[in-house]
Amino acid sequence: GVTVRGLTKRFGERAVLRGVDLEIAPGEFVALLGRSGSGKSTLLKVLAGLDTDVEGAATVDGGVSVAFQQPRLLPWRRVWRNVVLGLHPPVGRDVAVRALEEVRLADHADAWPRTLSGGEAQRVSLARALVREPDLLLLDEPFGALDALTRLAMHRLVEGLWQRHRPAVLLVTHDVDEALLLADRVLVLDDGRIAAEYPLDHPRPRRAADHIDIRAAVLA
Ligand code: ATP
Ligand code: MG
Repeated sequence: GVTVRGLTKRFGERAVLRGVDLEIAPGEFVALLGRSGSGKSTLLKVLAGLDTDVEGAATVDGGVSVAFQQPRLLPWRRVWRNVVLGLHPPVGRDVAVRALEEVRLADHADAWPRTLSGGEAQRVSLARALVREPDLLLLDEPFGALDALTRLAMHRLVEGLWQRHRPAVLLVTHDVDEALLLADRVLVLDDGRIAAEYPLDHPRPRRAADHIDIRAAVLA
């Protein structure tokens, strides 16, 4: 799980996050919406432990994996090595290929990162996050560069993975329908705080009427 209390992040004079309070229960799937520049990626970096120059408290229980908005793959390592990079103890190519199969990229296991399309690089990044079986999975617009069909396949993949391993998930997305489809709860980051919160009812899939109500609320 995740507990964030009064989290403030400044870049120089400017506070991008201004007292964020946030709780994510173990195994809960939370979607985070918010305008471009509202601080979503900044919040994820803090939760991932990549930015510690903050005020307030952010604690995360267990292991964390991040799939970044801009995938960071080491250019001098083949795709499969990128997937399992840094794992302790080291694991073999077969483990990487299985993870790549899940994101439908097994045939690119031996490719070099620079030869991948944007959507393929995102999926490698997703495979790298999944292979670690984290307690908290941070996904920063992981499906943004994907075509509609591949995005649907990735929704199913993430949903299936979440059902099996039950990590807590924080998914940043601009797609309200995606948030409504996948999440237990939708948060809106605005003006440096969690400005709104919409719990969603189980079971999936949700009723169309719920989608319409929440959509209207989120977009209001
Ligand atoms: P998007 O939806 O476009 O990805 P976001 O909500 O993820 O946006 P962030 O990337 O978190 O937004 O950025 C929030 C604000 O903080 C932006 O105005 C950005 O310019 C600023 N910012 C982010 N990183 C830095 C940095 N290293 N130095 C200075 N300003 C930064
Ligand atoms: Mg961002």
